[in-house]
Amino acid sequence: MNLHYLGKTGIKVTELCFGVLPLGPLQKNLTLEAAVRLLQTAIGRGLNFFDTAESYQTQQYLGRALAGQERQQLVLATKSAAETYEGMKLSVEKSLDELNTDYIDIYHLHAARVTPAVFTEREGALACLTDMKKQGKIRAVGISTHSVSVVEAAAKRDDIDVVFPIINILGRGIQDGTKEDMIRAIGKAATAGQGVYAMKVLAGGHLVSEVPAAMTYVRQIPGVSSIAVGMVDEAELNYNIELFKFNHVSPECAAAVQADHKRLIVLGFCRGCGACVNVCPNQALSLVGNKARVDNDKCILCGYCNPVCPEFALRIV
Ligand code: SF4
Ligand code: SF4
Repeated sequence: MNLHYLGKTGIKVTELCFGVLPLGPLQKNLTLEAAVRLLQTAIGRGLNFFDTAESYQTQQYLGRALAGQERQQLVLATKSAAETYEGMKLSVEKSLDELNTDYIDIYHLHAARVTPAVFTEREGALACLTDMKKQGKIRAVGISTHSVSVVEAAAKRDDIDVVFPIINILGRGIQDGTKEDMIRAIGKAATAGQGVYAMKVLAGGHLVSEVPAAMTYVRQIPGVSSIAVGMVDEAELNYNIELFKFNHVSPECAAAVQADHKRLIVLGFCRGCGACVNVCPNQALSLVGNKARVDNDKCILCGYCNPVCPEFALRIV
């Protein structure tokens, strides 16, 4: 497995990053034991980079998986949507506790669907991350985003070390630009010395039938050091490790992966409150006949809608 530096941070990561979101209650909802077993298998197989978020409710899975591991060999990234200094301080303290660690390698402003105004609107939260870095509680400050203009704005800032943008061969889910625009913005961040790793390279499951080509597309983008991929069982882990190590996958390994398309469904007890419609960054939800309806061509399975549903009526299956 290739190891790459994340820009000038001094942090070296495996080219495959384990995206921990799907293990948790927003998606697959594995038991803690099953999730920890899979994460520890990944560590045993040589992966060193793991990405989670406060809102994914999976920090504690990683924290449990870290027990008995050499912490310095691993790179942990997490994120918070906190807006103020105090809010971010609470988030970082919670992350340190749940991740069972005394430092976090990369801490992002969780800013999927925002404009560059995020840097003034959440100035306090960013200042907190800068202070936490000075105190040694985090090693690098990042921003995770779906927006081209936010990546471009981040590239001009000294207080951002790492950028975590959405990019995929379909251009699905990219806000305010095309995939070519995002590649240009990634280039600016990389030229500025920022580390870049990519999310949603399979467009939230829409590219599961063409994984090698979709991965290759993003792996070849100049400036991209690593790719976060959600994995929920050992077959998917084996598949991705083989692909990233050897650039191809054996038929046996490919056959073991259930390549059925995941999708978001709305359960019958939706009461049409519209909360999910308002948070979807991709206009994939609408209200039809007082029920939420999903446009699966637009949905990237980001999971942002699930937590806001008061009825727990949204599921990724
Ligand atoms: S419908 Fe939900 S999972 Fe799909 S893109 Fe919108 S917020 Fe994300
Ligand atoms: S948030 Fe839940 S209850 Fe409200 S419209 Fe969406 S699916 Fe239905």
